Amino acid sequence: MKFLVTGGAGFIGGNFAHYMVNTYPEDQIVVLDLLTYAGNLETLEPIMDKPNFKFVKGDIRDREFIDQLFAEEKFDMVVNFAAETHVDRSVEDPEVFITTNIIGTQVLMDACRKYGIQRYHQVSTDEVYGDLPLDRPDLFFTEETPIHTSSPYSAAKAGADLLVQAYHRTFKLPVTISRCSNNYGPYHFPEKLIPLMISRALADESLPVYGDGMNVRDWLHVYDHCTAIDLILRKGRDGEVYNIGGHNEKTNLEVVKTILAALHKPESLIHFVKDRPGHDLRYAMDPTKIETELGWKPKYTFETGIPQTIDWYLTHRAWWEHILQGEYQNYYQMMYKDR
Ligand code: NAD
Repeated sequence: MKFLVTGGAGFIGGNFAHYMVNTYPEDQIVVLDLLTYAGNLETLEPIMDKPNFKFVKGDIRDREFIDQLFAEEKFDMVVNFAAETHVDRSVEDPEVFITTNIIGTQVLMDACRKYGIQRYHQVSTDEVYGDLPLDRPDLFFTEETPIHTSSPYSAAKAGADLLVQAYHRTFKLPVTISRCSNNYGPYHFPEKLIPLMISRALADESLPVYGDGMNVRDWLHVYDHCTAIDLILRKGRDGEVYNIGGHNEKTNLEVVKTILAALHKPESLIHFVKDRPGHDLRYAMDPTKIETELGWKPKYTFETGIPQTIDWYLTHRAWWEHILQGEYQNYYQMMYKDR
């Protein structure tokens, strides 16, 4: 089978490309990525020369280009990871979130309709459900939880999800959607919480934590996200949404303290900064459907995944140091200099 993996030079798409190329040598994996600030070809370096892998640079919003790519490649499966993903950036400048996350999805699905595919899979997020109160630990997001977004990022992801469901209903396009909780693991861009804290702690720099650090996220190792998507592609029911989560709820402060302890660094490095506008309180997924229907089980817990991830950052310094030396530094200054 031939897979198109969009956004495959990013964090999760990159991990998924590695997973697919190595797990299914008989399948062809084509990664399409625009290489925005978040896309990094160094992430794909270990698989670049594999015979079942190919990289194509391009924009999912470019209708003519996408049409031509589909005509030439004749994909069986399309997995759409390509998106603008950083919530803070969506607060600063929402427009590109709308064009990439919504219009890009439409352009891809139009090509799927025209050329025919076995499955279009949309990679979505728990953030489409909004947030849960901190004092109700009994509440979880299920696939039936209404869409209720907070940021331009989550609104754009929700818009795309609704469009995917509409294409299924109206045009009978074979689709699935997965909504996953926060991921961590190798190749994570160092503006996100866990790699940001690891890289700054290693340099003995202050660790900026939003508000009082009590916001809760449900953490999943990126490897477990990849196995879940693989299962959905092969066994998931057409038109269905599957929640993916690890039952690993942690406050941001707990995450930062765990990292500091693992690196033997002092908690005095923690520096509380002004909260993000509209900051969601708690996300927590109920993954019962994918566990019972498809038999998915995560391999990592937070306690085993964090040391593995720290170890990866320690042994792959060149990967993240190249990023820190680039444009990312200017962005970091812009976001944190006045706090
Ligand atoms: P990322 O920002 O690391 O990667 C996104 C990739 O998409 C980048 O390589 C970028 O160059 C590419 N891209 C952006 N605009 C493009 C365009 N117009 N055309 C082609 N490529 C383009 O993101 P990520 O964290 O790997 O997230 C991947 C997907 O998973 C996203 O759809 C995101 O909403 C979803 N998701 C992420 C998380 C998480 O914790 N990171 C959790 C749940 C869902």
